[in-house]
Amino acid sequence: MKRVRIAELAWPVYAQRVEAGAPVLIPVGALEQHGPHMSMNPDVLLPTAIAERVAERIGGLVAPAIAYGYKSQQKSGGGNHMPGTTSLDGLTVTSIIRDVLKELARHGVRKAVLVNGHYENSAFITEGVDLALRELRWDGIHDFRCIILSYWDFIGQQTIDEIYQGDFPGWAVEHGGVLETALMLHLHPDLVDMSLVQDHRPAEFPPYDFFPIKPEWTPPSGCLSSAKRATAAHGQLILDVCVQGISAALATAFD
Ligand code: ZN
Ligand code: MN
Repeated sequence: MKRVRIAELAWPVYAQRVEAGAPVLIPVGALEQHGPHMSMNPDVLLPTAIAERVAERIGGLVAPAIAYGYKSQQKSGGGNHMPGTTSLDGLTVTSIIRDVLKELARHGVRKAVLVNGHYENSAFITEGVDLALRELRWDGIHDFRCIILSYWDFIGQQTIDEIYQGDFPGWAVEHGGVLETALMLHLHPDLVDMSLVQDHRPAEFPPYDFFPIKPEWTPPSGCLSSAKRATAAHGQLILDVCVQGISAALATAFD
C-alpha cells in the first residue's frame, strides 16, 4: 500500500503524488484533558486515524496533524481552566490553517480536506479556509478547493441507536464520553484505563455561556458524560462508519 503520511515521504515522491492530483487531508485537533481515564490527545489521534484510512482508500495524502486547537469551552470540552488543556487563540488557529493551505497550494495541491477532531475549532477552521482562498485568488489561483468536516457528523442514527440503546446524551456532552473512549479503545488501548472511568450523569448546563467560567459547572472528572459503556467493538463500528462515509463523500464532492 502507498504511504499516505506526507511527512514520511521524500519530496520528489510527494511532488509526484501532488502532480497526479492527490487530495490532502489535514487532521485538526487539540491538546485537551479527556477525563482521568484517557490521554489528552484523542482530538488529534482520532481524526488522524480516520484521515489515514480515508487517504488509503481514495489515493490521498495526510498532512501532519495540527496538535493544538481553540480554547476548550465549558459546555463542549469541560473548559479551558482544566490542567493540561493547552489552547491557542482563535487568531492563531485561523492563521495556522491559512498558512498551511497556502503552502499546499504553492506545491500544486488543489484539493484539501480539513478533518476536525475538536468541536471548538470549527469556526476558526472556516475562517482560515476563507482567508486562504481569498489570498490565493489575489495570487491568481482560483481552482483551490477545500472541504471542512468533523468526523462525528458522519455517525448516523442507526449507529447511535446500536451503541447507546436509547440513552444518547447528545454530541454536545460527548466530551470524554462513549464516542471518543470507544474509538480510543479500538485504536490506542494503551492510552485508556477503563478502571478509572468516573460513572456520572451527563452534565447539565443552562442555555447560555458565562464568563469568567464557573468551574463548578464542569463535572469533577472533566468529562461531560460517562464513558462506562464504551467498548473497543463500538470503536471499530464508529471508525468503519466514519471512514466509509467520509470516503464516499470525498469521492463525489470534488467533482
Ligand atoms: Zn475530544
Ligand atoms: Mn475537544
